[in-house]
Amino acid sequence: MDDALMTSRTRKKVVLLGSTGSIGRSTLEVARLLPERIELVGLAANGSVEALAVQVRETGVKHVALCDASRIGQLRALVPDDVVILAGPEGLAELATLEEADMVLVAIVGIAGLQPTLAAIEAGKDLAVASKEILVMAGEIVTAAAERKGVKLLPVDSEHNAIFQCLDGHRGGGKEVSRLILTASGGPFRTWPAEQLAEVTLAQALKHPTWEMGRKITIDSATLFNKGLEMIEARWLFGIGMERIDVVVHPQSIVHSMVEFIDGSVLAQLSRTDMCFPIQYALTWPERLAGGLKPLDFGALAKLEFEPPREADFPALGLAREAGLTGGTLPAVFNAANEVAVDAFIAGAIRFPDIWRVVGETMHGHEVAAASSLEAVIAADAWARRTAGVACGR
Ligand code: NDP
Repeated sequence: MDDALMTSRTRKKVVLLGSTGSIGRSTLEVARLLPERIELVGLAANGSVEALAVQVRETGVKHVALCDASRIGQLRALVPDDVVILAGPEGLAELATLEEADMVLVAIVGIAGLQPTLAAIEAGKDLAVASKEILVMAGEIVTAAAERKGVKLLPVDSEHNAIFQCLDGHRGGGKEVSRLILTASGGPFRTWPAEQLAEVTLAQALKHPTWEMGRKITIDSATLFNKGLEMIEARWLFGIGMERIDVVVHPQSIVHSMVEFIDGSVLAQLSRTDMCFPIQYALTWPERLAGGLKPLDFGALAKLEFEPPREADFPALGLAREAGLTGGTLPAVFNAANEVAVDAFIAGAIRFPDIWRVVGETMHGHEVAAASSLEAVIAADAWARRTAGVACGR
């Protein structure tokens, strides 16, 4: 038996960063469905010690990391004595290089996943990437490092995982691909008149019509910034120009994305709205395994609809295109300004349409630099956070 086949049939050992979050919990579910093929060997969270301790006991992992070092004492009291606890951002990076791990799944919100991602790549670990912010901020650095070390970047985001499936694992798909088409649910305000968007409440923005996700990504889905971040993420994951990445609104979220080929054919990937599907595919690729996830019931599907996004009323896609086409540090600024604006909206400091205003103003005040060093990206991120904070009146 050749090495590749042998490895593919053994148990994959996975470190999971962000285990207590929405993606993290779904990953535990996938591991529960395929115990003979997936073994979790490390878990990390920010400060949810109780939830993390329950997961440690369930999975039997011997290594955990907690970013909030002030809560280490609490965690120590809740987990068995032989569990190694790593602390702070450095602890996260150390966990990502755990010798026995084959793969690291990164599912942390925001910039905190970047250093552990780079550490994992340097240690030669394959990566399953849910944290789109990492590729938006530092796509050039991450993809170059992955290529240099020969590690795989497997998409967990449902849209990118769908495209990965349609491309049959071939990055970019070569000359035969004409367009990548990302589907968007359109969010809870898809049919709202533009003038009512100023009245959107936090509770309304947190009610996603089709997916259950963390707070940040749910609000990003309502503004369409999530789709904008995904356009830039796709550009790096598939090595394809922004001008060949389009978005179509598909309210049922059953078609997760599509690839259009030069002969006019389109391939699409469909499944129920359950993140376990893309997580399982990323963790078990290049195999497809029967894990017990329920397939679609076509008899119960009333209809699949598609419509163009309302770009004028939801300017996030235009801003994303501008950031992706300009490149350099502008995508990092786009991402950071959005994070600050979302926090301000959650805190009640700005209204819903101000999220677009704050990101646009911050981007247009930025002097774009090359993004080939981590220092440049981190400096642009910090600048954008300060500038966006002022634009939020904070
Ligand atoms: P959640 O808010 O549900 O969970 C975030 C996780 O990250 C938690 O485990 C949290 O720990 C941990 N975390 C946050 N900050 C840190 C830190 N500084 N150090 C260590 N751990 C930290 O987010 P989601 O699961 O929804 O999203 C995670 C990522 O996946 C995001 O980038 C999102 O865009 C992406 N994604 C999510 C999808 C979804 O369906 N939810 C779909 C596609 C992509 P704690 O609980 O201790 O705070």
